[in-house]
Amino acid sequence: MDNKDIATPSRTKALLNHYGFSFKKSLGQNFLIDVNIIHNIMDASDIDENTGIIEVGPGMGSLTEQLAKNAKKVIAFEIDQRLIPVLNETMAPYQNVTIVNEDILKADIAHYVTEALADCEKILVVANLPYYITTPILLNLMQQKLPIDGYVVMMQKEVGERLNAEVGTKAYGSLSIVAQYYTETSKVLTVPKTVFLPPPNVDSIVVKLMKRDQPIVEVEDEDKFFKMSKAAFGQRRKTINNNYQSLFTNGKENKQIILDWLESSNIDPRRRGETLSIKEFAHLYNELKNFPELEF
Ligand code: SAM
Repeated sequence: MDNKDIATPSRTKALLNHYGFSFKKSLGQNFLIDVNIIHNIMDASDIDENTGIIEVGPGMGSLTEQLAKNAKKVIAFEIDQRLIPVLNETMAPYQNVTIVNEDILKADIAHYVTEALADCEKILVVANLPYYITTPILLNLMQQKLPIDGYVVMMQKEVGERLNAEVGTKAYGSLSIVAQYYTETSKVLTVPKTVFLPPPNVDSIVVKLMKRDQPIVEVEDEDKFFKMSKAAFGQRRKTINNNYQSLFTNGKENKQIILDWLESSNIDPRRRGETLSIKEFAHLYNELKNFPELEF
């Protein structure tokens, strides 16, 4: 192992001591101290000299330095101001890295993508995410329709399984639908707690999400489509028929119309949300225009 890598216990501890840094649990600070995991992330990312990278939460730069060595440019968003001097030191050898001291949920990412990464042929998000905001980060990036070609991201195992879940499984839900609408999802590897300092409370997983050329189904209003599919999982033990009564304005009074809508979409009202594929949800959504009484 190259002991100059940041993702090693010795180098990470030396940096922590030198800067007197203490971890903030509230910011999801669990730093990678195993360079093999980073190599696995790199292998899954297919990064080349024309690739632009958006990294969320560089920490001390363990993943950033490997990204910098392989990509054209790296823009890394780090919220914790205390890490900026550390990153200024660790990233000093890499001219192609820009550290942005901003909250990823508030930053104008579109600006960075269209300006700083404009000369990159491919743009990827590669990150060991702050777990407390995994879902908002991914939904925000996907739904902003930025020219991002894909994501190779580490997160808590449970969320990764939801992104990648197949219809009919326990993990399948509204998050699976949004992710799979925009991207083709696959699992890269599961990661034990021991490769982090400090170890998190949960197991981790690296997931790859590659943007589809076209969304998997055609719907007129994506936000409404997602809202409608999400409502089917409102109470997981309820049938879709029951869950949909809570979605529509006057749903209880329009019981029969809901049944008619489900029937004309060929969906058995006794089914549960997790048994419906994205195609079936799209079919239901597109059929709604024949039932103008059903509003939400
Ligand atoms: N990439 C580093 C590594 O793997 O060792 C650190 C990963 S750590 C799991 C998550 C990082 O995200 C921390 O550095 C944390 O300060 C940062 N972070 C937390 N919330 C953030 C936010 N809203 N925007 C940007 N960075 C954030």
